[in-house]
This record gives sequence, C-alpha cells and structure tokens, in this order.
Amino acid sequence: MTSNAAENPTTFADLALRPELLNALAGLGYEEPTPIQREAIPPLLEGRDLLGQAATGTGKTAAFALPVLQRLAGRDEVGQPMALILVPTRELAGQVSEAIHRYGRDLGVRVLPIYGGQPIGRQLRALQDGVDVVVATPGRALDHIARGTLRLGSLKMVVLDEADEMLDMGFAEDIEAILQETPAERQTVLFSATMPPRIDGIARRHLQDPVRIQMGRETPAPGEAPLVRQTAYVVPRPHKPAALGRVLDVEAPTAAIVFCRTREEVDRLTETMTGRGYRAEALHGGMSQEQRDRVMGRLRGGTADLLIATDVAARGLDIEQLTHVVNYDVPSAPESYVHRIGRVGRAGREGVAITLAEPREHRMLKAIERVTKQRITVEKMPTVADLHARRLELTRAALQESLLEDDLDRFRVVVETLAGEFDLMEVALAAVKLAHEATGGATADEEEIPEIAPRERRDDRESDGRYDRRERVTASGMTRLFIGLGRRAGIRPQDLVGAIAGESNLSGREIGAIEIADRFSLIEVPETAANDVIAALRTSTIKGKKATVRRERDRAH
Ligand code: AMP
Repeated sequence: MTSNAAENPTTFADLALRPELLNALAGLGYEEPTPIQREAIPPLLEGRDLLGQAATGTGKTAAFALPVLQRLAGRDEVGQPMALILVPTRELAGQVSEAIHRYGRDLGVRVLPIYGGQPIGRQLRALQDGVDVVVATPGRALDHIARGTLRLGSLKMVVLDEADEMLDMGFAEDIEAILQETPAERQTVLFSATMPPRIDGIARRHLQDPVRIQMGRETPAPGEAPLVRQTAYVVPRPHKPAALGRVLDVEAPTAAIVFCRTREEVDRLTETMTGRGYRAEALHGGMSQEQRDRVMGRLRGGTADLLIATDVAARGLDIEQLTHVVNYDVPSAPESYVHRIGRVGRAGREGVAITLAEPREHRMLKAIERVTKQRITVEKMPTVADLHARRLELTRAALQESLLEDDLDRFRVVVETLAGEFDLMEVALAAVKLAHEATGGATADEEEIPEIAPRERRDDRESDGRYDRRERVTASGMTRLFIGLGRRAGIRPQDLVGAIAGESNLSGREIGAIEIADRFSLIEVPETAANDVIAALRTSTIKGKKATVRRERDRAH
C-alpha cells in the first residue's frame, strides 16, 4: 500500500488502541481514522474532557466509542455501568449501541440501549444482569434513575452526543438532572453539530478544561480551484445502488471514481454494480500492489470505466480519463472532499463531482461548502423519464457524429432498397431504434427512487405553513395525526419529531409533512406506525406538556 506520510499522518495503530479494537476495525474495513478521530482519540485516551463540534458523517461515534471501550477493557466485574452515552433519539440510541457492540466484539462488552417506547421490563432485567455501557435518551434514563434501576455511581465516562439536538428537543433539564447523579471525577465528552451559547453553558458547567476540536477548520491549500460542477442528491441508504446507477446513466461519464468509506462497502458495491452491468473494479488498501496495478491497467486500457475505491487506495492516483467523482457517502471531513474532487477538473477540463447524501447528512454538505467556498447544488434525482430522455439524447448525438463522419456510403444500398417499400422517415425511425438498442439505450431501469427532502427542509416547511390545509393531500401510505399542542404552546417541528423519534418505533426520517397551527399541530406518519405513535405519545409529554393525540378527523364532520 502506498502511504504518503504528509497526507496520511496517523493510522489507527498510531493511536495506541488495544489490539482487540484494531482487529475489530480492520474487520469492519476501516482503513484509517477520520480527522475527527485523529484529533479526539488521543486526548480522550489520556482522560481529558472534550468539547467537539462534529456532525453526523464525520465518524464522531467511533471517536468517543473507541476510547470508552479502551477504558472499559480494564474494568473490574461490578456490573454497574462505567459509561453513559446520552443521545437525542431512539434511532440514534440503537445506532450507537450497535456501533459499540461491533467495535467491542472482542472485548465482551455489554452495552444496553434504553429509550422510551420499549417495554421497561426488558430494560430492567438487562440492567439487573449488569451492563458496562448504557446508551440512553435522557427521558428514559431519568426514569430509571428515579426508580433506582440505573445507578451512576461507578461511571467513569459520560458522553453527550448530538447535544444541540437534545437541547432542541427540550431535554436540557433532564441532562442537568442526570449529570447531578454522576461522580464528579468522571470524564465528560460533548459532541454537537453546532455550538450555540447554551451548549457553551453546559460545557462551562460540566466539562473540566476540555480539549476543543472543530471540524472543517482547515482551509484548502491556496491555488487554482478545480473546475468542477458539484451536485448532491439526497438518497435514503437502501436506494443508493439504484441512485448511483441512475446518476451514472444520466451523466454517461468517460470514466468515474466512486468513493466509499470502507473496504467492505467497496467490495459490496463493486459486486452490485457489476451485477447491474457496469464495468466496475474495486480498489482498496487490502489489495496487493499487483492487484492494484491490474485494476489501473484495465481502467487505462478502457476495459473498465468505473473505479470503486477507498480514500486511502485512491490517494495519489492520477487517471487522465476520469471525468466524474462520486461520493457514495458524504466524506468524513471537508478536506477529504477537496482531495477527492481534485481527481477531476485538472488542466482546465471540466469535471463533475456528485455526492449521494443521506437525509441526516445535510450539515456535512454545508460544512463542505463553507470550507471550499463553492456551492454544492442539491438536485432532484433524475426520474425514469429523465433517464429515457437522456438516453435518446445520447443516441441522437451518436447519430449526428456518424452523419458528420461521412463514411456512410456502404449502407446506401440498404436504404435505397427499403425506400421502395417504405417512407424514408419510417426507415430512419427503424434505424434509430436499432442503434438505440445496440448502445444499451433501451435497457430497462424502471426503479423509482423516492424523493426525499434533506431534514432541514422539512423544518422550513413549517415557516410558510399558513396555506389552506384543505388543499393538502396526505401522501400515500401516510396518516395525519392531530396533536393538541401548537404554536401557542411553543411547539416547533423539531419538538414533534423529537417526541416521536424518542418515544416510538419510528425514526425521524420516516415522518412526513408537519404543520403547526396556533392551537394544534398535524403530522404525517406512516399508516402502519400510526397506532404505535399515538400510544407512545399518549403516555409521554411533549415539551413537558400532556397532549391530545389522535387521528385527524374526517373533514366532513
Ligand atoms: P458517524 O459520523 O459516527 O455517524 O459515522 C459515519 C459513518 O462512518 C458510519 O457508518 C461509520 O461506520 C463510518 N466510519 C466511522 N469511522 C470510520 C473510519 N475511520 N473509516 C471508515 N468508515 C468509518
């Protein structure tokens, strides 16, 4: 593997992590720490408090989870939790505990997510059996503390993850109350995507001389900005392979490089894209030099036109044919984005950079825009109809080229023979059809990819929410719920999303349109989840208030 010391200052091994953790990371296909991990892990291993500004997609979870696991490794077997991680939503509680479980698989760490909506009995039993790490939403954590079933006296570490979201969801007092119950000498970590003054306040009160880290501080090296058209599409994870195919078909690159985060993803995606008929090759740090050379040979020779790679493997590559860079995931830091798009748009040629972002990752896009001082336009995923139109356009362009080349005489006899029997227009149409099919222009791709607004846009919708509600149609498969709290009660969209995601089985991204009126709110949820959401909201509070929750009444009544 080529490793350039200037570009690649730190490996996981340099971070002095335990072999069990290094093994787990290698097994997951992580090739190197992300910038936030590089900065956060060493001080956390020293036991320092930390205040980190980092959004989803930066690798922040591993940045705190690995130090937590390293500290746990030397635990004595008391069975009371040594680490408490507070998160805003049920969804995140699940993700974080799953991540800790995966990273700590060789350490036998017991991790338990606890959140509202889940039967409390199961949580009680697990807590009684003893756990090492608890990942909890603040409301449910406080419940357990009050019942005496969650004891915090043995805590060595407390992590507040997505602290700004927790505050937005009205958890400030719960967090204060929980921190009161923890030992004063604990190590405290706070991650937040934004740093409003209230976060500073919490940090001042509860963190001791914290190390501060902030992503996207570095600015790109001065020099000419590459000539690159930059576009992003918001795509839910399960639709990403189809979305990649659609974008490639519409863009028709000469050659493209697709960046993934891990080796596993590179291998999986290469297989998927090959199965879909693309000439794709994998490139990652787990391959021998000989294998890598072979891949590069195929790309240069034109027998492959899609390179699927990790950052490490693609470092320093200079491939002249490349016209497109695709970020299959939002890169973990703006600097990495800048490196990636630097692969195209060289020597005055225009290149294209395309990013497939998940709904939660819009903040990363904004951070990248701030650092690069260039716009990334968020566009609608091309539809099947767009694709058909584009393919016809490519066929038209190919025909035009052929007409200009003027070497068509040997086909004259065919046209003349047919012209005796058919109209010339019809002959031309049949020829175009055959040409279109021969270039693969007619292959079926009928998969519709759902259109998703980035999460922030859903919040924006509320601000112009004075339109006539009778005009609105509920999206198919969705049901509108009436909630008896509105603007007068200080309710904002994020309060509703927070309450639902925190208390029911639904994740934030499954929630549909939200309208907030003076005295009530309407919120769309999938019909299949409606009963669960109603039941969960009836037994909990929103911003500390009890609310009437029911299906919206038929308007005829
Ligand atoms: P997070 O910002 O913590 O939500 O992480 C975003 C994604 O990056 C998750 O899917 C992680 O599994 C992945 N990830 C975290 N650290 C690394 C790394 N060093 N290399 C590759 N992928 C990573």
